[in-house]
Amino acid sequence: MRTLNRPRVLVWAPTLYESGFKQHHVDGEALALQASLERAGYDSTLLDAYYRGRPAKTLHTALTEPAAGIDIVVAHLFTTDAYGTRLHAIADELRAARIEHGVRVVGFGPLAVSAAAELHAHGAVDHVAGTGERAEDDQLAPLLAHLDQHLREHTPLTDLRTADLPYSAGAVVSVAGSRGCRSRCTFCAYNADLPGGGWYELPMDAVLADIACLHHTIGATQFAFTDSDFGGTPDRCHERAVALRDGIRALGLAGIITFAISVRPETLTPDTIRVLADAGVRTALVGIESLNPNTLHRLYGKRQDLTHLNKVVVAADTAGIVIVGSYILWHPWQTLTALRAEVEAIDAFGRFRIPQFMARSVLRVVPGTVIERQVRAAGLLDEAPFHREFRMAHPAVHALYADLQAWFTENAQPVIAGLHEDQHDAFRQLSVLKAEEWCWFTQQVTDRCEEPARA
Ligand code: SF4
Repeated sequence: MRTLNRPRVLVWAPTLYESGFKQHHVDGEALALQASLERAGYDSTLLDAYYRGRPAKTLHTALTEPAAGIDIVVAHLFTTDAYGTRLHAIADELRAARIEHGVRVVGFGPLAVSAAAELHAHGAVDHVAGTGERAEDDQLAPLLAHLDQHLREHTPLTDLRTADLPYSAGAVVSVAGSRGCRSRCTFCAYNADLPGGGWYELPMDAVLADIACLHHTIGATQFAFTDSDFGGTPDRCHERAVALRDGIRALGLAGIITFAISVRPETLTPDTIRVLADAGVRTALVGIESLNPNTLHRLYGKRQDLTHLNKVVVAADTAGIVIVGSYILWHPWQTLTALRAEVEAIDAFGRFRIPQFMARSVLRVVPGTVIERQVRAAGLLDEAPFHREFRMAHPAVHALYADLQAWFTENAQPVIAGLHEDQHDAFRQLSVLKAEEWCWFTQQVTDRCEEPARA
């Protein structure tokens, strides 16, 4: 029931990706925000434009409806992939909402914290939760305190109303089973909204209750843990895998529900991988980032042991878990020689385990990160509001990178623009394009590495 002096809130989950490939993904953290606000007595509504399985109202339309009467918009901005032109467009909508509709706006999520200064300067937000900002306003101050607390605890999704869940059985629903990450990768802002950093678990039994509820309400069978790192430590990862497997069995959902997790390979053992497979985990997203140990450790600040990574991949293959690796091939200090070695290492590791196009395997510089400071200090950063782009120190690498971008724009972009996951051969078309890109690119690397020798 609404508490009388509480403002009316709209939780806005905007579209965060330019590409429309993912059609059925549900931003579960926005659901949790909605549930948490309702529990606290706010008259809260969820506007989910992140899910593309059905048309969503624009923010402007939602605020214009006569019955809306919205006082505050909470914008859920989580993936730093959206930093850049997408975030700029979202910031424009938020600023217009403040000016035209007189609403106050609170940014929420790691992207909002990372880009807080730019969102403020643009006039897009009144406050950003998780930054320690204090509000004088007697409506915003308690809301900010509530949002800070929300980050530290699990909010049951079980009392969401049916109206909050307008999704179909094909939805892929994200759920949070932990927060934060014990690692400190130099390019990462995913801990930005967790004051003090660290990694901590949310109760697995409560998370499983949410999953069972969502399964029974909308029929969803595919879930993705949004955790930055599912496991935390090797011991905890094993215990959590066992809790997930046993809990799913106890709920009678073994063999029905499948999961994707994001996990640091150093927390995985072959035994844990088998347990995760028994629990229904079918995909594990891991940050490989580089198969060049120098780049990995010195530039990206990852402690990852590449020998252990290979053991994890073999164990996952055996257990039936698909390892999906993220990779950052292009960085400001890349050299042609190192590039050739990385290309050979990727070939040996399995190009197919890295879903990105090589043209998109680029260091994303986002505000507030260690690598942003390093690139700026080296004089290699181009920056403007909602824009961070690095220049490459080596002209020959820059030339190859520019040529690869041109290949991608000409050959891949027009095909990708028309694809989405509901098309029966969309994945095959993407695979063919990636293979073509790899052939073109690896030949270019070989040719250009040999040019000085021939000259
Ligand atoms: S392991 Fe992943 S989530 Fe953790 S700091 Fe590195 S990139 Fe960020």
